[in-house]
Amino acid sequence: MAEIVLDRVSKSFGSVSVIDNVSLEVAEREFVVFLGPSGSGKSTLLRMIAGLESIDSGTLTIGGKRCEHLPPGQRGVAMVFQNYALYPHMSVRENMAFGLRNVGIERGEIDRRVAEAGRVLEMEELLDRKPAQLSGGQRQRVAIGRAIVKEPQAFLFDEPLSNLDAALRVRTRVELARLHQRIAATMIYVTHDQTEAMTLADRIVVLNDRRIEQVGRPMDVYNRPASRFVAGFVGSPG
Ligand code: ADP
Ligand code: MG
Repeated sequence: MAEIVLDRVSKSFGSVSVIDNVSLEVAEREFVVFLGPSGSGKSTLLRMIAGLESIDSGTLTIGGKRCEHLPPGQRGVAMVFQNYALYPHMSVRENMAFGLRNVGIERGEIDRRVAEAGRVLEMEELLDRKPAQLSGGQRQRVAIGRAIVKEPQAFLFDEPLSNLDAALRVRTRVELARLHQRIAATMIYVTHDQTEAMTLADRIVVLNDRRIEQVGRPMDVYNRPASRFVAGFVGSPG
């Protein structure tokens, strides 16, 4: 059974349609990239899965559970944001633990999860630092750590590398691919960057103007674009 199933979901802001009748199945442990130009609806679709935007019509199933009416905390997904605002006065350890404090998880379990996230992200020696003592890439890893400690079924990333410089973007991309192999979780990753999509994705979902243009493995999308739009967007650099 697929981990995340969208069935004919639509969304409007006021009278403006932004997601139109989108259906998609994401398999367990799959790395799926939503690729499309700015304004195509990538973030909205991701936020609908996360529960940060309502779904006007259609259904969302995550891990076999109907989710379109559940609050974000009950969907078993964790979102990693582009603007990874860390609390400056808290250590890395505290930043990661913060989201777990008020949801009834006991101290020992929180400590165990933070230590595990530190191991997975290879930042065990940085857990007692403050954000100001970290590089941009390390801060991004803390933001991912905040999601890891929730032990979600699926991770949702919205352009997580767009604040990083080019060299760091490449390095963090490699780290993300390794992270996906290590924790073997389902991941959905939003980007407008064709290179990121080609290198990270098991499958690419090409979005354009509220709809899915094509779903396929990177080389299939690249070699056999389903439309002129896909040919132009995936084929052209930058
Ligand atoms: P992308 O992430 O692909 O750039 P978005 O999902 O952010 O696209 O936006 C899709 C469309 O929805 C855009 O036209 C955007 O202006 C519009 N939109 C997004 N969020 C809102 C909102 N909260 N209110 C009104 N319109 C919005
Ligand atoms: Mg966006």
